[in-house]
Amino acid sequence: MGSVRLLPGREKSLLRRHPWVFAGAIDQVKGSPTDGETVEVLDSRGNFLAWGAYSPASQIRVRVWSWLREDQIGADFFLQHLGAAIQARQGLLMERETNALRLVHAESDGLPGVIVDRYADTLVVQFLSSGAERWREEIADALLQLTDARCIYERSDAEVRRLENLPERCGPLRGDAPPRQITILENGLRFLVDVYQGHKTGHYLDQRNNRRIVRAMAQGRHILDCFCYSGGFLVNALAGGAASVTAIDASQDALELARQNLLLNQLSLANVDLQQADVFQALRGFRDRALRFDLIVLDPPKFAPTASHIAQAARGYKDINLLAFKLLRPGGILVTFSCSAGVDASLFQKIVAGAALDAGVEAQILYWLFQAEDHPVGLAFPEGAYLKGLVIRVK
Ligand code: SAH
Repeated sequence: MGSVRLLPGREKSLLRRHPWVFAGAIDQVKGSPTDGETVEVLDSRGNFLAWGAYSPASQIRVRVWSWLREDQIGADFFLQHLGAAIQARQGLLMERETNALRLVHAESDGLPGVIVDRYADTLVVQFLSSGAERWREEIADALLQLTDARCIYERSDAEVRRLENLPERCGPLRGDAPPRQITILENGLRFLVDVYQGHKTGHYLDQRNNRRIVRAMAQGRHILDCFCYSGGFLVNALAGGAASVTAIDASQDALELARQNLLLNQLSLANVDLQQADVFQALRGFRDRALRFDLIVLDPPKFAPTASHIAQAARGYKDINLLAFKLLRPGGILVTFSCSAGVDASLFQKIVAGAALDAGVEAQILYWLFQAEDHPVGLAFPEGAYLKGLVIRVK
């Protein structure tokens, strides 16, 4: 069994139960551990701190599996911890009409690098670290045992795998290949999910609660849904009685899925305008034509994939929020998001406040929004809080 000994003082974050050991914190590695192998993490005096998975290619060199010396990392460990994560979801969403949710949220569920999303009776998994990859078969077996899933599909094609020197891998992992499109129920509305090609594992499950808020505010309003993807906000806006919705996405496939999702929910396309465009350009075009809306949703992709992109991301967020403020009628509502982990909620609020100032509008925050509760944030792992949003009313 290999071990990793830390430099003096570098045990502090681990003592606070933060699950990452950066390469720069390590004094000595013993036993030449291979990719994903379990290592013992020791402080500078040789005291046990944790068991973790070794990632030789990554700056995050070790991710902690367990803080308990008596634990053994193996099939039983994963059965127990995956079971606990799945159990913790019970009762969260039961009362709502929803059959698609995140069952395992990586570090925040004590399982670094492991993502499991349930879409009806299909599970979609991502192994995002060397450690998760090492235990792939054990994790798949445990999931079959713990759920009534008919198939498990792997979507290990996330960018972060590159940092771990892991190749992309997608395909059926257990059971038959899932259907090309799975119909899920989310808060009583139906959505088609393409687990083969869709973004992330197929659907932005993290926005479930925030879509309900838009639905509750939609009645009679003229709505602009920017970055609409498969129509999560759009479908909710119409279900909530919107007078009209203009929805924009750069991807024609996404817009087609959005159109199908409207039909699937028996919603009329009569007052819907689906536009394939770049949102930055479209908003400028609307401004030049003096168009106005009552409610605007801005749900862009991650502008800051890493910390080094934060300044550039901030400019992007400011730009679209400034334009959106200009397009709102007096009393209008802006529902604006960032899913960049590096832009925290307070920085995001500052960026949006700067945009309002430059747009010359006075505004107030009605709600602070976050990712849904099936994407919990470990208290010792603030990095887990990646999605933040604001609902803002302009005067
Ligand atoms: N609101 C969606 C999720 C949005 S994901 C939901 O609730 O499910 C971000 C979307 O932005 C993707 O569909 C992507 O195709 C689109 N996109 C990325 N850059 C864009 C741009 N510059 N202009 C328009 N759409 C863009």
